[in-house]
Amino acid sequence: MSDAPKSLNFIEHIVEEDLAKGFPKESLRFRFPPEPNGYLHIGHASSICLNFGLGERYGAPVNLRFDDTNPTKEEQEYVEAIKRDVEWLGYTWDEERYASDYFQQLYDWAVEFIKAGKAYVDSQSSEEMAIQKGTPTEAGVDSPFRNRSAEENLALFEGMKNGEFPEGSHVLRAKIDMSSSNMLMRDPIMYRILHKAHHRTNTDWCIYPMYDWTHGESDYIEQVTHSLCTLEFASHRELYDWFLDQVRDPDKLRPKQREFARRNLSHTVVSKRKLLQLVEKGVVNGWDDPRMPTISGLRRRGYTPESIRSFADTIGIAKRDNVVDVSLLEFHIREHLNKIAPRVMGVLNPVKLTITNYPEGETEWLVAENNPEDASAGERKLPFGRELFIEQEDFREEANRKFFRLKLGGEVRLKNAYIIKAESCIKDTDGNIIEIKCTYDPKSRSGSGSEESLRKVKGTLHWVAAEHAVSAEVRLYDRLFTHETPDSHKDKNFMEFINPDSLKVITAYVEPGLKDAQPEERYQFQRLGYFTVDPDSTEDHLVFNRTVTLRDTWAKLQQRK
Ligand code: ATP
Ligand code: MG
Repeated sequence: MSDAPKSLNFIEHIVEEDLAKGFPKESLRFRFPPEPNGYLHIGHASSICLNFGLGERYGAPVNLRFDDTNPTKEEQEYVEAIKRDVEWLGYTWDEERYASDYFQQLYDWAVEFIKAGKAYVDSQSSEEMAIQKGTPTEAGVDSPFRNRSAEENLALFEGMKNGEFPEGSHVLRAKIDMSSSNMLMRDPIMYRILHKAHHRTNTDWCIYPMYDWTHGESDYIEQVTHSLCTLEFASHRELYDWFLDQVRDPDKLRPKQREFARRNLSHTVVSKRKLLQLVEKGVVNGWDDPRMPTISGLRRRGYTPESIRSFADTIGIAKRDNVVDVSLLEFHIREHLNKIAPRVMGVLNPVKLTITNYPEGETEWLVAENNPEDASAGERKLPFGRELFIEQEDFREEANRKFFRLKLGGEVRLKNAYIIKAESCIKDTDGNIIEIKCTYDPKSRSGSGSEESLRKVKGTLHWVAAEHAVSAEVRLYDRLFTHETPDSHKDKNFMEFINPDSLKVITAYVEPGLKDAQPEERYQFQRLGYFTVDPDSTEDHLVFNRTVTLRDTWAKLQQRK
């Protein structure tokens, strides 16, 4: 992360051009417009950083607007989660708005449309309308209801609003052009009947406006200058503009829709609809499961807002859809945690190690640096004794010269402590090593300044003192999907690529200072990775999530395949 001024992205260039043409800078206004039908994911983070980033660059207000026009899918829980996530990312919105605030205004405008012969009530089935829509190369056919009188349309539309008709019996359509080369301009639907209570307007309405009719008009009401959306809306721009042209007061600003590419992340899905399936089918434990690419899942996993923002900044915005490798996201959290996370020792797969020449019953308190990257992080005391735990993988009876860990007859340094030498090991009846017997060099204590303390040995191992170790549940996460782009397979559903081993729960031993660690605290377990205390943690049952390993082992494994 350098301090060099960032180059402008193509959306910023568009804004710059508008300013160069004389557009008043103080009129700039942006919005982030989520639909509250699920939790925000890492794709949304790109849109949030883009819109709020523009706000910061130009000192312009940014609204948080809930695009809440579909009561069948939207809930207050999602509204709350979205607000929490945007705040957690570190952004402050100017006004909290809801498309549902504009239902009356939209309705009034629709009545004007009808009076002006620009909208009509169609009473056909959706299948009939679909057939009449034509194809991209073939013009559509007019609905038999297209030329209803304004009086008849007004009466029907009011009846729709008053709940006199069942769902699907009528819709209101804009009267544009059934032969337009843009299919979206072929008399698009403005309203449908839905007898569903809305999370904000309750049962006030039983007709709900469609996205295209709502979005541009909401931008207009809020006087948003640049309305940024993803590429799939490029073909909607003509309709966005058409609707605006019908309602706009010439003295008011005309919002401008511009499109940028959706961001996809490898080995996961970024679609609220698909993420909801993972939650509903119990593949994950809720929207904030640490395996989820949601902002709340990443937070629980141990990601920092800074790491997500610097990731979004690095990938920037693009004009074409693409997939960003999740290892880039992991790179950003590693970078940040390397700077801020206190170092501690924890052993994930413990095996007992006894130092036979260390006095029985004695505990010695050693001094350890909390973070070599941050002098202000200070030091802590670590207990050391005759019986310790080290990782099973760190000991072999025999090994070649490239094995820089402990082997029989070989020496290693125990981090922040002494040089030890493995003398023998004890096995159970199945041949598993259950105890390693060592001797230590009492003069070799780290930091003591003695000649022996400076003696170089090849390996350094982490450890914890058996008597003082605290046990902790550790949740080890892997990719949620085995396929790089699970939802792009032409014959298979994304659910077929779920990684059955995405979660492994183990019991580890950690140093005693972690006993009172609190949820969301992040640590580096030396030599292993970054670990974050999970909210499931209690006073007598510590739970850690592995945020990320120290190195990118996944990429290495893939290369070997
Ligand atoms: P989803 O399919 O996940 O529901 P959406 O686009 O329907 O996505 P919205 O709540 O409508 O979700 O999105 C709010 C804003 O975030 C929109 O401007 C949308 O274009 C943008 N956005 C959504 N997903 C992505 C993504 N993957 N990359 C970049 N921007 C995104
Ligand atoms: Mg959507």
